[in-house]
Amino acid sequence: MNLINSAAFAAEQDTIDPLKQFRTKFYIPQVHGQDSIYFTGNSLGLQPRTTAAYVQQELDDWATLGVEGHFHAKKPWLSYHEIFTRQLSAIVGCRETEVVVMNHLTVNLHLLMVSFYRPTKQRYKIICEARAFPSDQYAFESQARYHGLNPEEAVIEISPRAGEHTLRIEDILDTIALHGDSLALVLLGGVNYYTGQFYELEKITKAAHAAGAVAGFDLAHAAGNVKLRLHDWQVDFACWCSYKYLNSGPGGVAGAFIHEKHISNPDLPRFAGWWGYTKETRFKMEKGFHPIPTAEGWQLSNAPVLSMAAHKASLDIFEEAGMDNLHAKREKLAAYLHFILADINQRQAKPIIEVITPQDPAARGCQVSILMLDKGRDVFNALTEKGVVADWREPNVIRVAPVPLYNNFTDIWKFGKIIDSILH
Ligand SMILES: *Cc1c(COP(=O)(O)O)cnc(C)c1O
Repeated sequence: MNLINSAAFAAEQDTIDPLKQFRTKFYIPQVHGQDSIYFTGNSLGLQPRTTAAYVQQELDDWATLGVEGHFHAKKPWLSYHEIFTRQLSAIVGCRETEVVVMNHLTVNLHLLMVSFYRPTKQRYKIICEARAFPSDQYAFESQARYHGLNPEEAVIEISPRAGEHTLRIEDILDTIALHGDSLALVLLGGVNYYTGQFYELEKITKAAHAAGAVAGFDLAHAAGNVKLRLHDWQVDFACWCSYKYLNSGPGGVAGAFIHEKHISNPDLPRFAGWWGYTKETRFKMEKGFHPIPTAEGWQLSNAPVLSMAAHKASLDIFEEAGMDNLHAKREKLAAYLHFILADINQRQAKPIIEVITPQDPAARGCQVSILMLDKGRDVFNALTEKGVVADWREPNVIRVAPVPLYNNFTDIWKFGKIIDSILH
């Protein structure tokens, strides 16, 4: 399509957008009495207007039923977590038995590493991204120490080549092959939080398996964003949070995926809790842990129903919108943003913007990371002043993420217009 940097073109795209009514299902934060241009759905997704009613339902059931709510609430709390499996399996691309909603992201990362990072004298290394999200770095480091290893030796970081910002797939695959039989685990983000690069999870998984290692992914920036097929890709495990693209509220309950080939293996070590125990006999409360032979077997505690209610409100919206429609619109929004930024650059004497997110649509999601070559802070301050909610990362990167549920083409056009006005 022929893209045009104009208000009329953006408005026309918004008019023909099949998902346009979804924007009205969210509260858009206000700046100076107007809707902000909210581009931080990669950090905290917006609140659906329906969330309050979903949470209120649980508060009401608690008020009127007390403990009986475990059985007689509208959505009984005893099995509350089960209402997510169908919808989430469509979002991350897996079987219903492979997914569970529980805990928080870093907690799940640790729990899954307990099962899937089992270093031996020979095979003990973890391959990850250099400058992985800090919580992940601390998890890798502390897991290595927990096993009596020196993180300096056990944790292998892959960096972009000099002068580049993103990782080349051949470098990832070569590093995996290089460490070969000393490699225990490959654990990358699905989408890098800083650059927005979406890695080739299937190829990475295949390479990890060829080396005799396990492949896991932190999907914090991928779940609800990019197209995932965790089951078919043979990914061993994954985890994600629900408050970024999944719009389930600050500190919301997280999710985990464990591939079918592992879920019913009772020999996998794990840190167990009663909610992972076989349902039929859980309340006999006997000694000896018998895990549920699905991803649910990794649960520890009973369901945090209030935060799960917020998660449910959001997943109902995802289902109504349909993942394919969301992916189609996501790609159009990202392409328009890349186009607008290139157009701004062209009208400068020399380039002022370097987009460090891959141009290839298959290698990116919603997020576009903009390296400002000059006037970075001025541009960011002006954006903030004019009602754009974006994110600044030192030294000079502005991250923006137009998301298909509530952003539109006009948001992107206005964003470009503000940058233009600063530069001229
Ligand atoms: C957002 C994010 C986290 C945050 O972890 P919590 O346990 O939810 O606080 C961790 N890892 C990555 C890659 C993230 O993007």
